[in-house]
Amino acid sequence: MTSSTRPLLNRRLAEFGTTIFAEMSALAVQTGSINLGQGFPDTDGPEEVREAAVRALRDGRGNQYPPGPGIPELRTAIAAHQERRYALSYDPDTEVLVTAGATEAIAATLLALLEPGDEVIAFEPYYDSYAACIAMAGGTRVPVTLRPHEGSFRLDLDELRAAVTDRTRLLLINTPHNPTGTVLTREELTAIAELAVERDLLVVTDEVYEHLVFDEAEHLPLATFPGMRERTVTIGSAGKTFSFTGWKVGWVTAQPALVSAVRSAKQFLTYVSSGPFQYAVAEALSLPDTYFTAFREDMLAKRDLLAAGLADAGFEVFKPAGTYFITTDIRPLGETDGFAFCRALPERAGVVAIPNAVFYDHREAGAPFVRFAFCKRTDVLEAAAERLAKLRTQ
Ligand SMILES: *Cc1c(COP(=O)(O)O)cnc(C)c1O
Repeated sequence: MTSSTRPLLNRRLAEFGTTIFAEMSALAVQTGSINLGQGFPDTDGPEEVREAAVRALRDGRGNQYPPGPGIPELRTAIAAHQERRYALSYDPDTEVLVTAGATEAIAATLLALLEPGDEVIAFEPYYDSYAACIAMAGGTRVPVTLRPHEGSFRLDLDELRAAVTDRTRLLLINTPHNPTGTVLTREELTAIAELAVERDLLVVTDEVYEHLVFDEAEHLPLATFPGMRERTVTIGSAGKTFSFTGWKVGWVTAQPALVSAVRSAKQFLTYVSSGPFQYAVAEALSLPDTYFTAFREDMLAKRDLLAAGLADAGFEVFKPAGTYFITTDIRPLGETDGFAFCRALPERAGVVAIPNAVFYDHREAGAPFVRFAFCKRTDVLEAAAERLAKLRTQ
């Protein structure tokens, strides 16, 4: 131990010391609560994909360091997926990079593209690793707040335009958006693309929920918009799409110079990861459309089940157009502080949720919002809804 009074955790990371997920998951265990805090499925993905991983492992494929950019089979499958879904063509050798989940893709991209002092615009509330990775890269985050409007959280395009300065280096976009469930529309994406071109900005777009869009919503990759193919780093992941969040297989698709820059950072983070799982994900990406449709329908039914339970319990529900999550407003329950509410909820109702305020710089803007994950078994969601119904009579 050093005897100096200097804090061990450096200044860049000091504000990220502990996460709410650790506190809430501990509370869930202590109180025997149903944990709808963290977003991971409680059932595994397709059996044939799991078997593909077992086969790779047994056959000795991927048990040693795979190639730095990812195995060719997976890079080819990623490129084929982008082509088949979105008519976006990427060269598997120069325009695709496999990463340790989307998490590493985000970190490597920001570490590669930012100089200290560069400003990064991101939508608030944001996925928790964005703020930390911008900080690790020495960047300055500039939040643009998504605000409730007619049942969903929307982007104010004027606010976005006004946030761009001479120091802005990149826009960090996430659609479908965690935690609000917002899916950006064609009009919104068109405006973002125009702004990026006009101000010559790089764009990083986190599309890990690309296959989880509901009702009339449609996932449109930003890279398909005019002028965007050359300036956009698109991030994807197998975790959410195939319900194997522990495998940590993610990827980046972008033009060669961007992929090369991201690879420069990535090679010194993990170098490589997830060997045998890369073979399995290559097969998973080639599953027929019926898999993706059934997956979406299953998650849609779960969304509706939990949304109905939350509405019955007295929450205002922002029905998500995508993702694993429902954001609620607790004010109809006579509450205003999401932190206090989430800390008390396990005792009151035996359910754990996450206060959205942790995803905001402007904490007050997120204070009354609370997030519930619905990527759980039907019986678990039914039990949660039953428990939450108690709130009505408390
Ligand atoms: C889960 C999630 C990630 C991380 O994905 P991994 O592949 O598990 O690293 C990134 N971005 C968002 C918005 C997420 O919800």
